[in-house]
Amino acid sequence: MTVDPEKHYLVGVIGAGPAGLYAAQHLARKGVQVVLFNRDIKPGGLAEYGIFPDKIKMRDGLKAQFKRILALPNVHYQGNVSIGQSGDLQLDQLRKVGFQAFMITTGAQQNNWLGLPGEDLAGVYHANEIAFHYNHMPEYADLALEFGQQVVVIGAGNVMLDIVNYLKCEQHACVVTAYARRGPGEVKFDPQTLESVANCLDVKAVEEAVKAAQPLVAGVGGDPRAICALIKQAQHRAGGCDSGLRFRLAFLRSPKRLIGDSKGRAKAITFEVNELVREGELIRARGTGALETVPADTVIFSIGSQVDPGFGLPVSAGNYVTTPYPRFPVHGISYEVYNPDLCSHCEDLFVSGWARLASEGIVGLARKDAERGAQALLHYLETLVPTATGTVDQALLRLPKTDKRVVALSDLETLWAVEEKKAEELGLWAFKFKTNQEMLAVIEKASKA
Ligand SMILES: Cc1cc2nc3c(=O)[nH]c(=O)nc-3n(C[C@H](O)[C@H](O)[C@H](O)COP(=O)(O)OP(=O)(O)OC[C@H]3O[C@@H](n4cnc5c(N)ncnc54)[C@H](O)[C@@H]3O)c2cc1C
Repeated sequence: MTVDPEKHYLVGVIGAGPAGLYAAQHLARKGVQVVLFNRDIKPGGLAEYGIFPDKIKMRDGLKAQFKRILALPNVHYQGNVSIGQSGDLQLDQLRKVGFQAFMITTGAQQNNWLGLPGEDLAGVYHANEIAFHYNHMPEYADLALEFGQQVVVIGAGNVMLDIVNYLKCEQHACVVTAYARRGPGEVKFDPQTLESVANCLDVKAVEEAVKAAQPLVAGVGGDPRAICALIKQAQHRAGGCDSGLRFRLAFLRSPKRLIGDSKGRAKAITFEVNELVREGELIRARGTGALETVPADTVIFSIGSQVDPGFGLPVSAGNYVTTPYPRFPVHGISYEVYNPDLCSHCEDLFVSGWARLASEGIVGLARKDAERGAQALLHYLETLVPTATGTVDQALLRLPKTDKRVVALSDLETLWAVEEKKAEELGLWAFKFKTNQEMLAVIEKASKA
């Protein structure tokens, strides 16, 4: 659909992570006026605050793309503004000033926990806290993290590997063991990410873990030996070991409880041993009842995230709920928000990216999902008459004032320029201010000059 630009369809994209930015680009290219509201001052979401800092090429490439999207004439950036029931502005206030539809791309940044006894002990972290810390996300940048000698990571995906890489880069001498719920044939990390820590892998220990898992997988799931080939290949490319860290993998274990010492610090963790079973089409990890306790002075949960229930949309299984009967499915997928309590569509609300499927895939997948979601939203717009209520700026001026400084694209340009200059002065590949106050001070200073 190509919309006549004079007619001003006005759409709010909520969240300027990869999904929000690519959705905005898709809509803007079709002539829609898009306002990108973003809770953070900076755009990029987890591309700014999640992706490991040494993936410089990827981060720079994404940043360059995001800058091009934000420069589109019909994309309007409103940073430092959160939307939703517990936000600075509510959707109804946006509707009142002429917004006709919304794409919710607020991601999934709330920590998942398993609700186990001992999760509140000192030395227990969620992987998000660590990733946000090393990526200088405001509120996390100055977090005091303390890692011990025996680190247990729950989860066996790419984020787990990032966390091991971080510990390695800190030159921390410790043993890190990552525990997977399922078998060695089903690990989810990719060979490139494995390379970053392959030189720390205790291959003998991994081979033993694979061997120990074999009777419990009994031909169910992928080939358990494939992981050994993957490790060898990654090690070949990674070179020699340059850290005191020893990295091990363990399989078919589900955490049951954490045990603390007299000072309230984690000292051990108990796992239940699983076996793999086939149930129809599905392969499931089923507890055998056998328990095993291992020492652990640091436990890191790398088990994904969920959407923010404070936004005010119905949540199920960590995602905002979409209708099973979409009016505008794209490739059979529903992008339309659904309120199961009212049994109705929330007609003007669409959702995509990690807000639709929490912790699912990498940036490329979030992009694809957002573009499909934007297609669904465009089909919805075709059913509406465009509102011609003046310019976007006039609509934004009619919004209730909040006490927060709204950050526009020109402010971001100032901020980026100052951060780039600082990086140059300090001889760093990148520099990031650690707090919103520091960023806003730079922006304010420039706007007064
Ligand atoms: C630790 C970690 C490492 C990763 N590493 C990689 C990697 O190496 N390569 C890769 O391709 N992918 C990686 N990913 C995955 C990638 O980051 C995600 O696929 C992608 O960021 C999801 O995009 P999104 O826009 O849906 O959500 P997000 O990136 O989470 O963006 C959400 C945006 O919404 C905003 N927001 C939230 N609430 C509100 C609100 N109420 N109002 C307004 N705005 C709001 C936030 O400020 C944020 O800007 C990683 C993820 C994590 C967690």
